[in-house]
Amino acid sequence: MPDLFSASDPAPAPTEAADAERAALQARALEVHERLCTAYGCPVPFFSDKDPLSELVSALLSHRTKNADSGRAYAQLRERFPTWEGVRDAPTAEVEAAIAPCTWPEQKAPRIQEVLRAITAAPETDGLSLDALAEWPASRARPWLQAFKGVGPKTSAAVLLFSRLRVPALPVDSHHHRVAQRLGLIPEALAVGPSHDALAALLPDDWDAQTVYDDHEALMLHGQKCCFWRNPACGRCPVYDLCVWEGKKPRVESGG
Ligand code: SF4
Repeated sequence: MPDLFSASDPAPAPTEAADAERAALQARALEVHERLCTAYGCPVPFFSDKDPLSELVSALLSHRTKNADSGRAYAQLRERFPTWEGVRDAPTAEVEAAIAPCTWPEQKAPRIQEVLRAITAAPETDGLSLDALAEWPASRARPWLQAFKGVGPKTSAAVLLFSRLRVPALPVDSHHHRVAQRLGLIPEALAVGPSHDALAALLPDDWDAQTVYDDHEALMLHGQKCCFWRNPACGRCPVYDLCVWEGKKPRVESGG
């Protein structure tokens, strides 16, 4: 893979070369955004308008779980306990039984109850609610959310962006991450967690929630529909010329 990233001191003084490298990466990110948005039909409708607390519980259930299974677990939990106070105060075994369709219900049930109790006790909230986050900038809300056990950068961004708060914050899932690596937007060795800040830094500061959502969705959809982990469909890839991945497949020229 061509070296699009400097291997020099990780915290150098700003230089013209570093500025030029950053500008080139930002331009690459915008080109990827435009082409994949065209390919996958932006604006993409938001799939959820949950309140932020419900979005948080939904995100905690979805960790390393297929969407259909976490959706079933969420629906069963809501059916069994109509309020989040009911989930918080229930015997843990009952919560575990309600979320049985997701992975590791025995870990997620006590974790969710612990988070619900911590939110209730937090001085910044009005009881068991995250509606106060509507007034906060993402720069305050994300680290605050990530202080809760089990809440990482993807979940904090999802709570802000996917819920009805619609705060611009970029989540990065495994598809989004793989596509960003192959297109040279982040170093190949950068893990999903730190890739959140690296990828968000490439996007314009004034993008609204819909445009940030479109960026996430377009890269994710590309990973789901074309840039598969194994055997990607490079022959029909709309960003083929931007791909720097050594596993990229050569295009077969149509004969004339
Ligand atoms: S050329 Fe292939 S590997 Fe590269 S981004 Fe497109 S589908 Fe993925």
